Amino acid sequence: MPLAWSRSRWPAPAPTLQLPALSAPSPAPTGPDGRPTAMPLRVLGCSGSIAAGCRTTAFLLDDDVLIDAGTGVGDLTLDELARIDDVLLTHSHLDHVLGVPLLADSVMRRRAGRPPIRVHGLPETLDALRQHLFNGTIWPDFTRLPSARAPVLEMRPFACGDLLALGHRRVEVLPALHTVPAVGFALRGPGDTDAPWVFTGDTAPNPALWQRLRQLRVGRLVIETAFRNDEQALARLSRHLHPAALGAELQQLAGAVEVWITHVKPGELAAVMAEVAALDARHAVRALAAGQVMALG
Ligand SMILES: [Zn+2]
Ligand SMILES: [Zn+2]
Repeated sequence: MPLAWSRSRWPAPAPTLQLPALSAPSPAPTGPDGRPTAMPLRVLGCSGSIAAGCRTTAFLLDDDVLIDAGTGVGDLTLDELARIDDVLLTHSHLDHVLGVPLLADSVMRRRAGRPPIRVHGLPETLDALRQHLFNGTIWPDFTRLPSARAPVLEMRPFACGDLLALGHRRVEVLPALHTVPAVGFALRGPGDTDAPWVFTGDTAPNPALWQRLRQLRVGRLVIETAFRNDEQALARLSRHLHPAALGAELQQLAGAVEVWITHVKPGELAAVMAEVAALDARHAVRALAAGQVMALG
């Protein structure tokens, strides 16, 4: 399916997402009743680091959009990897980007004659990839391979607040607060009335995020909680959340939302989730798991 891609600047916070007419989006797949079918979002990795059974952050939307490229990407087959046309990056940290250079190497031959994989990120994130990964020392520059004229990767900068159209999918770039420039994402299918799926990315407490989410009528929220409460000094230093901070953040989320916890360090899941369970949250809060598939839209 040809994939239309367009980018626009979201002019000001608004109560509902509206897609500016920039390019004709590809039609959404429909079921026998003519209604758009749900978009599968597969959790490839949701751990804060690696160990057997623990993969770092990566989600696959439909079969062609990757959201972050942590070690979970390595569980995809070569055919699945070759179908990825767009990669959305929250920030430059290794646990979120290390799949990008390896993906490029794996699929370069299979994608011969096809357009480059578009890697979308903040300018600072893309600069970090160019300088510190694709520098000829850590890895070859796959934005110029197999040839500078027809490379396997291309970089597409976005800004916080942008609304991206990836075929029939719409992605709003949300603010995040981390040790490096970072973002989260809100995803919607073709129906503007659908409640969006929201991923915070790595973030410290962030009032700007909740200000925007209050306008978005969130359906499902994937939010990080990287550390236990007794590691809150480390959480503060590394600009992550711990359960007590999560509780304060979730109080700013209206209604009763399905909340999924991600980015817990290996070996810490039971301790972190016990502290999360003790929060006085009106939302249903559960741990995200690799292999889980969420139906969006
Ligand atoms: Zn990070
Ligand atoms: Zn991370």
